[in-house]
Amino acid sequence: MKGMMMHRPLRIADILTFAAEVYPDSEIVSVRTEGDLHRTNYRETAGRVAQLAHALQAMGVGFGERVATLAWNGYRHLELYYAISGIGSICHTINPRLSAEQMTYIVNHAEDRVIFVDLTFVPILEKLKDALPANLTFVIMTDRAHMPENSLNALCYEELLHGQPATFDWPEFDENTAAGLCYTSGTTGDPKGALYSHRSTVLHTLIVPLSMPGVFAPGRKILPVVPLFHVNAWGTPYTAPISGATLVYPGPKLDGPSLFELMDREKVWSAWGVPTVWLGLLNEIDKQGRPPEGFGHMVVGGSAAPRPMVEKFENLGVDVCHAWGMTEMSPIGTTGQQIAGMEAWPKDKLLDWKARQGRRVFNVEFKIVDEAGKRLPHDGKTVGELHVRGNTIVAGYFKNDAATAKAVDEEGWFGTGDVAHISADGILTITDRAKDLIKSGGEWISSLDLETIVMAHPKVANCAVVAVPHPKWEERPLLIVTPQGEPPAKEELIALLAQHLAKWQLPDDVVFVETLPLTATGKVSKLTLRQEFKDYALPDAVPARAS
Ligand code: ADP
Repeated sequence: MKGMMMHRPLRIADILTFAAEVYPDSEIVSVRTEGDLHRTNYRETAGRVAQLAHALQAMGVGFGERVATLAWNGYRHLELYYAISGIGSICHTINPRLSAEQMTYIVNHAEDRVIFVDLTFVPILEKLKDALPANLTFVIMTDRAHMPENSLNALCYEELLHGQPATFDWPEFDENTAAGLCYTSGTTGDPKGALYSHRSTVLHTLIVPLSMPGVFAPGRKILPVVPLFHVNAWGTPYTAPISGATLVYPGPKLDGPSLFELMDREKVWSAWGVPTVWLGLLNEIDKQGRPPEGFGHMVVGGSAAPRPMVEKFENLGVDVCHAWGMTEMSPIGTTGQQIAGMEAWPKDKLLDWKARQGRRVFNVEFKIVDEAGKRLPHDGKTVGELHVRGNTIVAGYFKNDAATAKAVDEEGWFGTGDVAHISADGILTITDRAKDLIKSGGEWISSLDLETIVMAHPKVANCAVVAVPHPKWEERPLLIVTPQGEPPAKEELIALLAQHLAKWQLPDDVVFVETLPLTATGKVSKLTLRQEFKDYALPDAVPARAS
């Protein structure tokens, strides 16, 4: 017998319609590429989104067609998210930090019809133009006064909206209709497309705030440093409006001093981003001798937040919430939000807990498996590859059966490529990415374990551990460090590691560099480091492996 309840399709457009009606005055504040600060709210945004939807239809953009964006975090990018998906087209966000070759590949693979581009990125498209589909329309996201000379024959965003009606009768369609397309950064092989649906996006929007009690609420000021051009800025374009929270967008200014100034001026309460961004902010906090005013909460993810970083922010009175996920998961899979009762925990226990990846969110199921695909126990110590299942997780990759077959296991779960253990009470600890593990003499060394320890050294600004080929042991770990001021002695770092690890797990050598290479999503690029150091001559004395 079926329940006798109405069935209304879950639609993204309804999120903004709701916000405009219930939280009309909650703000969206943006640093613009034009150089100034712009303020709007959900009521005005809903009107402009309606105008944009009319403009898209007038341009002939059809149901299911892909419309791309190449833009920073700002109110126009948010408008595109809603207008494109609202008319049943697909919002394809492009990461501007991808290589020219990767960008050409994904625009062609996605068969984009239109590309909306921020002023900053016009030159990128001018260079690529000849390799892109011939029928592509370009729109520059600015007003007439700021339109640059360009060879794209581009339209002007504000002119498109001008004169269009500020209401739109959003069409009804199946909730499984595709809404968004985001390609992984493709650190190995071609980028792969995750194709989100209205249903998966709305469910993600309902699920995530539940896992972070107290974070999403009317009046909360949230700063997503995590870009709208990568995995939906961790869902914030939807979770903020649905809860009436204010969005503060940093535009192109992501360095420590600019973020500090914006957060201080706008009294941002919660800031979201990858660890490398927070290292920049910490530097500025050190210089200013205080945190930005009003800063009380942060979400850190994308790669593991080192415990010493968690500790520094906690000591400043910032409640740190670790989150784990991936493009293929919409993206959030776990959050480590502190909940009532935990304030009484001893500080060390709290910091240890916060440096782990946190609790799974509702509807994301976990299993860890060995190399043969056999399930392993969730006992907080047995390590295996993490597989996930749920309504917010890809069932396959867009137009890529070969990659789908590799990623989805026989039971229909998605293999994350992350290596982890899970405690009986469901707390996830990522121990490494499978491809970053170091295989030494038949044993695995977790690069993350070593990095976490080294990051605690006061003279270390950032570090990475990568595998270097070795004739006898297959691979050995090399520690690469960017120092904080005067570099520490190598022996000091090895001695620090030796307090926690077995001798065979210690790096064979330490190298000091000025900066670490970053991926298109702002994480330390181990792939680049592995390539750079593949011929590195390790010292002869190789520690004998235990056992
Ligand atoms: P990309 O492959 O483009 O970097 P994602 O941003 O989707 O794509 O990266 C997902 C991966 O980032 C995860 O599989 C995991 O390895 C890593 N990751 C994300 N969040 C965390 C976290 N909190 N702790 C450790 N690793 C993380």
